Amino acid sequence: MAQRSRKTPNNKGRFGNYGGRYVPETVVYALDELEECFHTIRTEKKFKSELRDFQTSYIGRPTPLYYAERFSEHLGGVSIYFKREDLNHTGAHKINNTVGQILLARHMGKRRIIAETGAGQHGLATATVCARFGMECVVYMGAEDIKRQAPNVDKMRLLGAEVIPVTSGSQTLKDATSEALRDWVTNVRSTFYIIGSVVGPHPYPMIVREFQSVIGKETKRQCKQLWGGLPNSIVACVGGGSNAIGIFNAFKNDSSVELIGVEAAGLGLRSGKHAATLTQGKPGVLHGSYSYLMYDKNGQVILPHSVSAGLDYPGVGPEHSYLHDIGRVEYESVTDRQALRAFKIVSQLEGIIPALETAHALAYLIKARNRFHRNQRVVVCFSGRGDKDMGIIKEQEEMS
Ligand SMILES: *Cc1c(COP(=O)(O)O)cnc(C)c1O
Repeated sequence: MAQRSRKTPNNKGRFGNYGGRYVPETVVYALDELEECFHTIRTEKKFKSELRDFQTSYIGRPTPLYYAERFSEHLGGVSIYFKREDLNHTGAHKINNTVGQILLARHMGKRRIIAETGAGQHGLATATVCARFGMECVVYMGAEDIKRQAPNVDKMRLLGAEVIPVTSGSQTLKDATSEALRDWVTNVRSTFYIIGSVVGPHPYPMIVREFQSVIGKETKRQCKQLWGGLPNSIVACVGGGSNAIGIFNAFKNDSSVELIGVEAAGLGLRSGKHAATLTQGKPGVLHGSYSYLMYDKNGQVILPHSVSAGLDYPGVGPEHSYLHDIGRVEYESVTDRQALRAFKIVSQLEGIIPALETAHALAYLIKARNRFHRNQRVVVCFSGRGDKDMGIIKEQEEMS
């Protein structure tokens, strides 16, 4: 029996043992300032209506809850619904958070925005809101990722962002994040750091959850309208974990609703080349927070692998570690191959091309089709659209 989760985080920014702040002293001051401003502003009428206006007229919310009739038939009759975050401006859920954080930055009087990005999706969502609000924007990105994600880099530059290549370490997201933290330590007075998932030091996991929780709130309302009740299960992919937390949050205390997070098993859990942090990792400290993490016997962080760049992160948000340990959320994983297959199946059955990240959640439904029954309703958080992944799909086809 899943436990009812307590109100989290506590006043130390902990979800159970997880979370907290593992950062230099200069940053502690900035985090305190951010936390205070967030608490003051989040309940203010003016801020709430400003946020709501941008959600409606800029992001395009509410996003539909779509009955995937042919995919449901394909699975043997369970009713599958897609929460269509792919229809948001810039094509994914990330913009829910960047809009919220840039409004916070503006209220705090910060004029310079920094961010880090792996696949470029968070960088793009950040560059987008910086253009809209006329703010200076610096995006740190691993040199390797800049090569792999050229179209997103071009878009960020078009939008006026400065994209700085990071050439240390593995030249990927992990190193870009370290570089962004370093920048923040140096420029903390003028600069607001927009973090893209429910990761990093307190209060970021709480702030990102708040701005993404609109997904679950809308879903709950839409379920009531469509069939007058709750879904049996909710399935979401987990990289850092923001789209999953965003949809799970409204249902955490509805014990009849099964919550399932799907991680990237890459080339297979036994290959060592995957990003299944909660399935295979152990608790440790990364990027300012204590959470499950993938590291080797010498304590070195293991380079993750996933065909989907957005799931290719060696850590996971601290709240997921907590929900994992108390058993409220079940974490599963699917391989690159299973995700690629689901990508094609759903494109061809529904005329909707999912992001490769989203394809992991969809692939789990195919993999576990026997666990879902004809009279059940399952909501999938359809985190983003797949146009950005066409290059990778082509490469994979040429290889096979
Ligand atoms: C970034 C991204 C993810 C993974 O990030 P979370 O914080 O785990 O949600 C998932 N889907 C899409 C489309 C993304 O762009």
